[in-house]
Amino acid sequence: MCAIVGIYGNDNAARLASLALFAMQHRGQEATGISSSCDGKIHTIKNRGLVSDVFKESALKILKGNMAIGHNRYSTAGGDSILDAQPVFAKYKLGEISIVHNGNLINKDEVRKDLIDKGAIFQTGMDTENLIHLIAKNTKDRLRDRIKEALQRTVGAYCFIVQSRSKQFVIRDKYGIRPLSLGKLKSGGYIVASETCAFDLVDATFVRDVKPGEMLIFSEDYDEPESIQLFEPEFRPCAFEYVYFARPDSEIDGKNVYTTREHMGKALALNDKASTVKYDMVVPVPDSGVPAALGYAAQSGVPFEYGIIRNHYVGRTFIEPTQEMRSMKVKMKLSPMKSLIAGKSLLVIDDSIVRGTTSKRIVRMLKDAGAKEVHFRVASPEIKFPCYYGIDTPNKEELISNNMTKDEVCKYIEADSLEYLSVDDLVNAIGGDRNYALESFDGDYFVK
Ligand code: AMP
Repeated sequence: MCAIVGIYGNDNAARLASLALFAMQHRGQEATGISSSCDGKIHTIKNRGLVSDVFKESALKILKGNMAIGHNRYSTAGGDSILDAQPVFAKYKLGEISIVHNGNLINKDEVRKDLIDKGAIFQTGMDTENLIHLIAKNTKDRLRDRIKEALQRTVGAYCFIVQSRSKQFVIRDKYGIRPLSLGKLKSGGYIVASETCAFDLVDATFVRDVKPGEMLIFSEDYDEPESIQLFEPEFRPCAFEYVYFARPDSEIDGKNVYTTREHMGKALALNDKASTVKYDMVVPVPDSGVPAALGYAAQSGVPFEYGIIRNHYVGRTFIEPTQEMRSMKVKMKLSPMKSLIAGKSLLVIDDSIVRGTTSKRIVRMLKDAGAKEVHFRVASPEIKFPCYYGIDTPNKEELISNNMTKDEVCKYIEADSLEYLSVDDLVNAIGGDRNYALESFDGDYFVK
């Protein structure tokens, strides 16, 4: 998960990076950080908390220079250490570097063990630190060559931005699993960001997506970024970005996220066409179910209603450590519109069921509020497999669809009916013109 940004060639680099991180806050709320390069030195500020808390005026004043990289960290259970905040900074033979990373390196343990056996000392639990060591131990004269060789030992889903004192190197893995786009700032220079929603806030125009397997190099030597194709592309962007993770106003690899979610909802409605059940209204689980519910309503003609109201001051429920805390948080976050739903038959849509905590609580809450029937629709297929490519999912044992059939899940969440999107419908909703990373649904772990 996480968000990364790089700004190059703009005197307000750190400020623009902080705005871009603010626009991408949904990708990670645990910690945030920015490194800027100025007068041959890299300055880094990072801390736990939200972008607006960490990057106040006083912090931005320190981060001078015309290039900066930034990161928002997503909480994963048990990894709540400030040491694991990014950028990761180091001094080595060629000078100073700082790195931000979005994704997950699947051979990290093996590489780390090898480095430790050879005497390396690690400060963090992050796979990103492996890359720093691989770069530092390499003997090539140029940083670009060191990065290239370090990447030969780096397997998994990654988008990296490496910043030296005078250059920025941007790399996307050959599968293009995690998103990364290039934009041009109207006030001068370039931006690279995980999501295009960051471009609007900093007044940048979209140029193109970073290609799978590509390295972009920003330097004083050229007006435009140099492009080097490091690896033969095998494009497999992550379907879960479209299902849940990305902001609806982002364009990911040429597809608008909101539109793909609407299509997912339409497909659910088409599959329900033969059903004889009459629904009084389509109710989204806010915010993640809204575009799909609008699609369902448009396709079926059933009215869309905000039958559930969300309190926006509650953080994410997903990563609370115990089941009891997760249930309580769902209750604090979502409330039923009693007068609207009492005595009504509801078609409720959420983007996904992972453990089943949210859906179970929602059905109970709606029934307690007087709903006559609650029919649950999920705008993604059953999640049966954990993701190792950068989306935070629990162990296989905790995934409800790994343990129960659809009918058993329906009974468990106490819904009157339950339907998921099929994998084919998901692919068609995003765009059937390419392959996607679908491992959470079909177990195809294609990165070996
Ligand atoms: P659960 O309650 O465990 O079934 O989780 C499902 C809910 O969490 C849905 O409402 C999703 O919108 C949301 N969700 C799904 N995947 C993730 C994720 N990786 N991180 C945070 N929230 C998620």
